Amino acid sequence: MKPKTIRGMNDLLPEVIGTWRYLERIVIQIAESYGFNEIRLPLIERTELFKRSIGADTDIVEKEMYTFKDRNDESITLRPEATASMVRAGITNGLLHNQQQKLWTMGPMFRYEKPQKGRYRQFHQFNLEAMGYKGPDIDAELIIMCARIWKVLNLKNLRLEINSLGNQESRAIYRNKLIAYFSEHKNELDQNSLDRLQSNPLRILDSKNPDMLSIIKRAPIMLDYLDDESKRDFDMLRLLLDNANIKYIVNPRLVRGLDYYNKTVFEWVTDDLGAQGAVCSGGRYDGLVEKLGGRATPAIGWAMGIERLVSLYEISNERVANTVPHIYIVTDGDMALHKGFDLAEELRENFPTLRFKLNMGGGSFKSQLKRADKSQAFYAIIIGTEEMENNQVGFKPLRNNEAQVNVSFEDIVTEVKKIFG
Ligand code: ATP
Ligand code: MG
Repeated sequence: MKPKTIRGMNDLLPEVIGTWRYLERIVIQIAESYGFNEIRLPLIERTELFKRSIGADTDIVEKEMYTFKDRNDESITLRPEATASMVRAGITNGLLHNQQQKLWTMGPMFRYEKPQKGRYRQFHQFNLEAMGYKGPDIDAELIIMCARIWKVLNLKNLRLEINSLGNQESRAIYRNKLIAYFSEHKNELDQNSLDRLQSNPLRILDSKNPDMLSIIKRAPIMLDYLDDESKRDFDMLRLLLDNANIKYIVNPRLVRGLDYYNKTVFEWVTDDLGAQGAVCSGGRYDGLVEKLGGRATPAIGWAMGIERLVSLYEISNERVANTVPHIYIVTDGDMALHKGFDLAEELRENFPTLRFKLNMGGGSFKSQLKRADKSQAFYAIIIGTEEMENNQVGFKPLRNNEAQVNVSFEDIVTEVKKIFG
C-alpha cells in the first residue's frame, strides 16, 4: 500500500513551487517597501499562549488545535496562527516597550478543520504586524498595502469589508445588548450559538449556518455602540481609504474568529474561490500585548492565506515555471563527458540564474536526447564524437523546428548569451 499524507496536509510538488515563490517574493518585496522586517518564529509554542490570546471560546481553541504533551509532560501546540507568537516574541526579546516594530513572517499554520478546497489542516500564511502604533493611520496603511499587492499581481474581484469592534467598554455594553437580543430569540439559535450565548455572543454573528442568517441580520450592530474614540478612528480610517481611492463595504457583522481584536477589523474577500473566499484578514489588537505579560502596546496586523492567493492567481495567470532546464547537455563517450562537466560548470559560473542539466547516468546518445526532450528543456547542447574532433558543440533547439547550429568551444558563452539574453 502506498503511504499517504495525513488528511488535510499537502505535498507541494515542484511544478507549483514557481508560482508560490513568485507570489511570496512579490508580497515580501511590497511589505519591505513599507518598512516591514522579517522575523522567524518557532512552529510550536506553549498551549497556554494560544488559549490566552485567541480565546478559550473560539473555534480554533475549542476544536482546531494540534496539542500534544512533550516528553517533559508540557502541553505544546502547533501554531494555528502567527499573531500570538509574534507578540510573544516581541515581549520575550524586549522589542516592544517604547518602540515601534513592523514585522513580517511567513510559514505553515496548523488547524484541525474539515479539509476541503481552500481549507487545509496545514496551510501557509504571510503574516505582518505593526506593534506600537495606535492608528488609525497605520490601519489605513496596512489595507493600502494589500491593495498594492492586488494591483501588482493584477488580481481583481477582491472586495474589502471593514468594521469596528470598539474598545473594551463599548464592546461590553454591546455584548449585553446582543445577549439580550439573542435570548429573546433562543428558539431560533442552533446548538453552537446557544453554547456561546453567555460566553462569547459576538461569535454568533460569525456563524456560517444559513438558518441563522435572518436572526443575525436583525441583531443590534456594534457600530451603534461605539465609544467616541473608536468612532473617530473609524471615520478617519474611512477618510484615508477614500483618499487612497480604495473601495470598501462596511460590514457590521464582521467580527473575526479570534477574541483579541478591537477597533478596526477587515477582510479581503473574493467570490472566485467558492466558499473559502477570505484571502486576507486582519485587525487591531490593542489589549493583547498586555494580556500576554508585556506593557500595554497598541498593535494591528493581517494574515494572508497563501494557498488561496495561489488559487486566485492561477485563475487568470499561467503557472510560473521554474523546473524546466534552459539547456540539457548530452555527451557521447568519456572524453565528451569530461568536456560536458567543464562546460556545465563554466555556464553555471557565467549564467547563475539559468538552469543547466548535464545528462547523468549515461545512456546511448539517442536515449540521452530523449531525456533532454522529456525534460522540456529549451535547448540541448550536444557533445558527440564528431563535435569533439572539431572542437565544437551543437546547439539544438528542442521546442521548435529550427536547425541545429554548431559553435566552437570558445564561443559557447557568447552563444548562450545571444539566446537567453
Ligand atoms: P475562514 O473564515 O476562511 O475560516 P479565518 O477567519 O479562520 O478564515 P484567519 O484566522 O483570519 O482566517 O487567517 C487568515 C487567512 O488565512 C484567511 O483569510 C485565509 O486566507 C487563510 N486561512 C485560514 N484558515 C485556513 C485553512 N484552514 N486553510 C487555508 N487557508 C486558511
Ligand atoms: Mg477559520
